[in-house]
Amino acid sequence: MEYRSIADVMNKDMIGAHVCIRGWIYRRSVVGGKAFIRVRDSSGVIQVVVDSGRLGEELVNELKNIGLEASVMACGTVREEPRAPGGYELEAESFKITGYSRDFPIKGGEGLEYLLDNRHLWIRSPRFAKILKVKHTVLEAGREYFTSNGWWEVNPPILTASACEGGATLFPVDYFGQKAYLSQSAQLYLEALIYVLEKVWSLTPSFRAERSRTRRHLAEYWHLEPEAAWYTMEDMMRVAEELVSHIVRRVLEERRGDLIDLGRNIERLKPAAEPPYPRIRYDEAVEILQKKGVNIKWGDDLGADEERILTMEFEKPFFVTHFPRQIKSFYMKVDPSNPNVVLGFDLLAPEGYGEIIGGGEREDNYDVLYQKIVEQGLNPDDYKWYLDLRRYGSVPHSGFGLGVERATMWIAGLDHIRDTLPFPRFRGRIYP
Ligand code: ATP
Ligand code: MG
Ligand code: MG
Ligand code: MG
Repeated sequence: MEYRSIADVMNKDMIGAHVCIRGWIYRRSVVGGKAFIRVRDSSGVIQVVVDSGRLGEELVNELKNIGLEASVMACGTVREEPRAPGGYELEAESFKITGYSRDFPIKGGEGLEYLLDNRHLWIRSPRFAKILKVKHTVLEAGREYFTSNGWWEVNPPILTASACEGGATLFPVDYFGQKAYLSQSAQLYLEALIYVLEKVWSLTPSFRAERSRTRRHLAEYWHLEPEAAWYTMEDMMRVAEELVSHIVRRVLEERRGDLIDLGRNIERLKPAAEPPYPRIRYDEAVEILQKKGVNIKWGDDLGADEERILTMEFEKPFFVTHFPRQIKSFYMKVDPSNPNVVLGFDLLAPEGYGEIIGGGEREDNYDVLYQKIVEQGLNPDDYKWYLDLRRYGSVPHSGFGLGVERATMWIAGLDHIRDTLPFPRFRGRIYP
């Protein structure tokens, strides 16, 4: 007998069919001579009815005290049952316990730290399954976008010798007695690869030793980064809005039911499926914030609070561009028409979420780049190979980085970034 997924079994065409399912016990109760066992698999939950008249009192007695999360297999007939979750149930003709589960540690009502200690078990909840599926579709749609638009997928290194996003958040590792770091971004390596393939992208883990615990910072996250030769900042912003709107459209098409179950307000997500996205300059952002009474002056970086206030002005994701040069990395190209700002952009997600993408045009002039490395207190010797890229056939080029968990958090409507990963890493947590 072939096993079916639970979601497949739960529809009108299956009424009266004889099927087998398998999964884990999610809930159970015994009333009279009948056990009502809710079985969960990757696709859903179904109620299985085990009748002592048919399958024996011994089994029903055993099921009375069976531990939650025991694994089981059942075969039987599908029935319509409006009182059962999803409207269907399986009248068991055979029922087998495959793996026992004694005293499952999560019973409901536990505190956050306890649940995080038991994350390997906590992730079994149907809610996590839905989040993981949304993330799957985010990743799939991202890959689909690049593949169908002529971009090459490449694999930059994770172990690196140089810092990309600044020393404060570096994770050092011992590399055969030499000091190395876990990658914060693939960008510098992608810049080398555009001289080979012109339009490249990668999906890698990035590591940031973030000192404070916030709702949107992880120590390890998945970073989706395109980089392209000959692209201006404007060209790259178009890629960013096409990519993000494509991802949102795909999730709305394929994961609508999961989004609704997660409590996502679909109507508020829909505008993000339609590019273009609005653009404002950093100058305007500061003006908007000052008008709203925020204590900010030109030259200050936008933090989570400032970003949240700005998002109230927009229904869609929106770009902030032309940041002051001193708050952005050394590799950002200075605006030829205003040396105080760089050709950089952030994409901010609405509804309070804030930055999901950071990107811009890269400095392609050797002397200017060298000067900026020195200006930011970095050692040019560490960047010799990177400077070489400007010595041998330099070209204008641009790129950006999308935080996959940031995007998923917003699209799924979650309060905290940790729930976008099964085993999140942040300060104070490395187990399990
Ligand atoms: P933030 O201002 O929120 O600290 P950032 O400007 O330092 O982010 P970038 O260096 O621009 O981040 O990295 C590109 C993208 O990577 C960000 O737009 C964000 O989506 C994501 N990202 C950055 N840091 C983290 C982190 N600690 N955890 C999860 N995602 C992150
Ligand atoms: Mg940061
Ligand atoms: Mg930022
Ligand atoms: Mg940024």
